[in-house]
Amino acid sequence: MNKPHGIKSNYDFDLAITGGRIIDPESGRDGIADICARDGMIKVIQKTEPKVRAREIIDARGKIVVPGLIDMHAHLREPGREDEETIYTGSCSAVAGGFASICCMPNTHPPIDNQEAVKFIYQKAQDAKCRVYCIGCVTKEQKGEELTEMNDLVQAGVVAFSDDGRPVASGQVMRNALEYSKMFDLPVISHCEDANLSDGGVMHEGFVSTELGMCGMPSIAEEVMVARDIKLAEFTEARVHIAHVSTEGSVELIRQAKKRGILITCEATPHHFTLTHEIIRTFDANAKVNPPLRTERDVQAIKRGLKDGTIDCVATDHAPHSVEEKDVEFDFAPFGLVGLETALGLVVTELIEKKFLSWPQAIAKLTINPARILNLPGGRLKLNAPADITIIDPKASWTVDPSRFQSKSKNSPFGGRKLRGKVVCTIVDGKVAYRQ
Ligand SMILES: [Zn+2]
Ligand SMILES: [Zn+2]
Repeated sequence: MNKPHGIKSNYDFDLAITGGRIIDPESGRDGIADICARDGMIKVIQKTEPKVRAREIIDARGKIVVPGLIDMHAHLREPGREDEETIYTGSCSAVAGGFASICCMPNTHPPIDNQEAVKFIYQKAQDAKCRVYCIGCVTKEQKGEELTEMNDLVQAGVVAFSDDGRPVASGQVMRNALEYSKMFDLPVISHCEDANLSDGGVMHEGFVSTELGMCGMPSIAEEVMVARDIKLAEFTEARVHIAHVSTEGSVELIRQAKKRGILITCEATPHHFTLTHEIIRTFDANAKVNPPLRTERDVQAIKRGLKDGTIDCVATDHAPHSVEEKDVEFDFAPFGLVGLETALGLVVTELIEKKFLSWPQAIAKLTINPARILNLPGGRLKLNAPADITIIDPKASWTVDPSRFQSKSKNSPFGGRKLRGKVVCTIVDGKVAYRQ
């Protein structure tokens, strides 16, 4: 990446972003400044000055400049369903949403459960517009029975383990997975669902499912597994990260576990802090997700959990599906929605504008917090850190139009929704990867 010595440049920097409000949650910096990058690294953060000499200058006055966003939970569908998303198109969607780094879940076809498969992801990632980090399976073929060769996966560069898409049903298998992952200081990301309790469910079990006559997935299907994983984390002293927390009870369990000093972290998705099960009355299969959209009480509990730090991260659970797959009777549609291009707008509109979180608090959940959980180099704006930077127009209003998404798939329930806060520019490794 570094330029060879001896090439003379008339510029001090490759890139300068001038006059923006720089927010870096790690250092606590929040103020107007210039940020300059050379050879893919941040080289200067200084009081704004009129005569900066850079090859490219981006005027960021009136904008917010933050570390390149990190999504620790995305499904990119390659290998196996390249008609729905590829690593490349997923990365295009990511940078359009302000993400400079994304972590891809291993429930592809075949799943990422061996070293060759991880190498395949990283080879494809070389052409991606953003950094792509690979998460490896906990168990072979995600069957929940036999652990993967976790050491091999770590050697190939996985940043976490997960059987996401399905739970690790056996407590014994989960215990063993945690004993191993602890040796590598990597978290196991748990999709908490007791599949017996949620069996056959297509939406949240509650008064709406009763009225619609649909089979429900009760909150306890999630909560009993959150409780189990908290106990296993306590027992093994390994790191458990709970994916897509969706119920009031889960938030409370995690809050109490953190108070007891257990090594547990968690994330919430934008759809779980924005939508409730009421939307299912429209029979929009794009709102069919797992875990399901729940009640207003749960939405409020997630917002409180984000505010008091119980919930560490906002992650998209970006899950592309083709129109053909989703355009069937609600009961038969697959779970999942595409989230990379609406996440930031929903964070700004639902959390910042409604005063649940300040800008620095919200940005921490999309940058330094996931970076710490996964030991990633990004997520901070400091000297000699990678020049991954996202520029946001906090005032811009826009209407979600899924047909214009960079993602190959358009399965979003947010079409037509008015949002505030728009990504102006995403810089990855010192280069402009997306510009509005
Ligand atoms: Zn999941
Ligand atoms: Zn997922």
